[in-house]
Amino acid sequence: MDYLIDIAKEVVEAIEKAVRKVARENFGKEVAMGADGTPTLYIDKVAEDAALEVIGKEANVLSEEAGYIDNGKKYTFVIDPIDGTRNAAHGIPFYGISIAIGRKSVEDVEYGIVKNIPSGDVYEAIKGEGAYLNGKRIEVSEDYSDIIYILALGESGNEKTWKLVKFNTIRAMGAAAIEMCLVACGAAHAYFMPQESLRTTDFAAGCLIVREAGGEVYNANGEVLNVPFDLKVRSSVLAVASRKIAEALL
Ligand SMILES: [Mg+2]
Repeated sequence: MDYLIDIAKEVVEAIEKAVRKVARENFGKEVAMGADGTPTLYIDKVAEDAALEVIGKEANVLSEEAGYIDNGKKYTFVIDPIDGTRNAAHGIPFYGISIAIGRKSVEDVEYGIVKNIPSGDVYEAIKGEGAYLNGKRIEVSEDYSDIIYILALGESGNEKTWKLVKFNTIRAMGAAAIEMCLVACGAAHAYFMPQESLRTTDFAAGCLIVREAGGEVYNANGEVLNVPFDLKVRSSVLAVASRKIAEALL
């Protein structure tokens, strides 16, 4: 696993380097159709190409635009080369990279790394060894004196979340993996996407990081989130500091 973790870190560096070379006004250019049926933007393509080049044939890959690449290996890199593409394309400094290493499904992920590119923050977790932000151990917040919910709003919300907006402190940043990590490090108490719109590439790394930080990740039915590495599967995501917080949102 150590060898694969080193590769994952190299991938993060390679993506960041590749993205920094692209002029910001070119981030949002449409270049192709992705495996998920949505247009691939230039920044996604540049980031994914950089990732695939580093990984080579060392592992299988499941990535947002390229789909599943079977290299006949035991482990798969589950990659969102750019988490928060729309933010990147609009010049909103909240987007990053998400990579998980596992075998078949979210529950067997052994390593996760998420990097917020503009801030430079790196969130990491190794299964059974805790979660880290920039090398320092992190834990979910148990201080409920100033609760912050990160919610997907607009069309991505539901009746419950729209009601919550009226009476609570809400944030909505538009990059699921990083938003989950904000729960892991105690910055927020929950991240909730109530619609079944996220894929394993969006949350595989975030799930491990939240769980290793002492939190939990459910779907909108309150079930512990676990899906196979399959881009066709979409899920709701509720990452929380505690079950008590989950119950307030479900
Ligand atoms: Mg993406």
